[in-house]
Amino acid sequence: MPRDPRHDILFEPVRIGPKTLRNRFYQVPHCTGFGSEKPGSHARFRGMKAEGGWAAVCTEEALVSVDSDFWPVVSTRFWDDDDLRNLALMCDEAHRFDSLAGIELTHGGAHARAREARVPAVAPSQLASDYDHFVVPKTMEPDDIRRVQADWVRAAKAAREAGFDIVYVYGGHSYLPLQFLSPFYNRRTDAYGGSLENRARFWLETLELVREAIGEDCAIAVRLCVEALGPAGVELEEGLAYIRLADHLVDLWDVNVGSITDWSKDSGASRFFPEGYQLEWTGRVREATAKPIVGVGRLTNPDRMAEIVRSGAWDLIGAARPSISDPFLPSKVEEGLYGEIRECIGCNICISKAEWGSHIGCTQNATAGEEYRRGWHPERFERAENADRDVLVVGAGPAGMECAIVLGKRGFRRVHLVDAEAEIGGCMRWIPELPGLGEWARVVNWRRIQLEKLRNVEVIVGERLDADGVRTYGAELVVVATGAHWAGDGRTYLTHDPIAGADASLPHVLTPEQVMLEGKVPPGKRVVVYDGEGYFTAAGLAEKLAGEGFAVELVTCLDKIAPVCDETLEGPLLRQHLHDRGVGQRAGVVLSGIEPGRVAATDEFGEALEIEADAVVLVTQRLSDEALYLELRADEDALRSEGVEALYRIGDCVAPRIVAEAIFDGHRLAREIDAENPAVPLPYRRERISLESAALP
Ligand code: ADP
Ligand code: SF4
Repeated sequence: MPRDPRHDILFEPVRIGPKTLRNRFYQVPHCTGFGSEKPGSHARFRGMKAEGGWAAVCTEEALVSVDSDFWPVVSTRFWDDDDLRNLALMCDEAHRFDSLAGIELTHGGAHARAREARVPAVAPSQLASDYDHFVVPKTMEPDDIRRVQADWVRAAKAAREAGFDIVYVYGGHSYLPLQFLSPFYNRRTDAYGGSLENRARFWLETLELVREAIGEDCAIAVRLCVEALGPAGVELEEGLAYIRLADHLVDLWDVNVGSITDWSKDSGASRFFPEGYQLEWTGRVREATAKPIVGVGRLTNPDRMAEIVRSGAWDLIGAARPSISDPFLPSKVEEGLYGEIRECIGCNICISKAEWGSHIGCTQNATAGEEYRRGWHPERFERAENADRDVLVVGAGPAGMECAIVLGKRGFRRVHLVDAEAEIGGCMRWIPELPGLGEWARVVNWRRIQLEKLRNVEVIVGERLDADGVRTYGAELVVVATGAHWAGDGRTYLTHDPIAGADASLPHVLTPEQVMLEGKVPPGKRVVVYDGEGYFTAAGLAEKLAGEGFAVELVTCLDKIAPVCDETLEGPLLRQHLHDRGVGQRAGVVLSGIEPGRVAATDEFGEALEIEADAVVLVTQRLSDEALYLELRADEDALRSEGVEALYRIGDCVAPRIVAEAIFDGHRLAREIDAENPAVPLPYRRERISLESAALP
């Protein structure tokens, strides 16, 4: 199918200073957790996006000074020229595919924890960091200002030498340049504080110095949160005023909203923010500059992208998450392969994995972060050595769907994806029905299209297989992907035992599946949703039931409501959202007994309490549906006599995990199904320092 001519505008080249972008798709800086520690992973990760058509690919934060160290959060440290060689790898990868390489040179200022470097943070004024309240910075003396600016120039020159085309003087997310600009951080009374001109001075001087040093060879970019949407930055009018002041020094304006503490409003989860939401603010930047502008907002729809460019609001379509979910998004638009675009669902698992796990991953794209260490390519699949077999995949949840797709792409004779229910999707049949999670349905939608296209994959629904049915199916390879279910007895990580009176066969005790799939309705009006997991399920059910008119209390034995959602930047917004919808919230409360009309519990200090409740929804822990697998495994002879050569299990049926891990597991097995022992993942390439003993000082 040819590309829609309305999208041609997205493939026009754009000049930024001395460089030219080959189209309007721009991967803005974003974190990966690779930092200086994993240069191979970093280079291949960015290179994959260059191959997929992004005209520019940028690093994550690359810190210019030792006192900008963010450790234990992993980031690129660009402190000395030894860092240069590793970063050059990424430039080579970008250039191999005619893309430009950008580097996010920055300094964390007040937010730099420096737990490795053991130096104090530095900032315009001595005010505790709103990112980490335990960091109280040193007020920068004039010498500190000059030293950091010199570091910036050194790093910029080294970046040019490494091969970078775009060099940032980055002040987004309330980093040091913005700390000088913002009265929230800057209380100075010298030439760097007070009026807008004074507060802008640090950033302007740094820009001038960097421009003087490398401006003829590299494009100079600034990232600025034009509207903080909170106290930690500037409001839109001042953001625009700063752009006017600095415009002559800048080749590319990269604009967004939020701050480090309000990052949730920049990397907005789909639960709260629709596609393109940042335009409300960044769409006004054109008033202040005629220079190229790049903006973001989880854009995956090419119609919307083309409209934005045509409106003149932005010149470039920026993306972090849409480029993680589909590194080949631009190529797919270019070739008119619209149905192939693997759209981001806005779940922010990528952020949780990069920030807390120090290795990025993605719900939709199982290959994200695996380009170097496992050699996976999101669009290329090798024919399997045992492809002349039939494979039966039992269960079409996220794990089973992904596994069947990859097996199909690896050329198996036939892949039979069988599910007991009338619809594919497994747990993803009901999760997107929870309030705010509608975009998560993309997990099934994209896979449904893929499954329909693969001629060697057949999808059979409405058929529940038992062990005999599996053995006699006629497939040589069997993959069990039967998923998991929520425990109906209230066991949690704290007690490992059932709660007295917790029995989901009773009318007043419910599980998430009973509510979402079976239509079981809580008797009475007062409902306690008891959460031992801390992610989205309990909060989603509480909001849903409150919306249906129940008086809901969300009770958790954890010390905070939905703490796992903090990792995905949803937590604070979610707790406020639940409060605004009338959901009561109690943390640190352990349920000990359930009776019709009341639950018994203890609070965080061990004091007994009672909560009046007509029903309890138990969201305590999930259990694998492994009976079918174990029955098959118990009789290897019976399997062999029916011609089954190998039996595997994947996804939640192995252990209940987040959807991203279930998908990864299905993908991994299919990628390695012709390995010596596919049940055990092949070792992946690790990046670590290996010193010769002679190298010790
Ligand atoms: P995962 O997240 O690991 O993919 P899910 O719980 O989302 O797991 O999906 C498991 C799927 O397996 C469900 O759609 C369920 O209907 C299906 N299933 C479970 N047992 C059987 C069975 N014996 N035969 C066919 N399908 C099954
Ligand atoms: Fe999008 Fe979720 Fe993937 Fe992040 S993890 S890129 S939010 S689908």
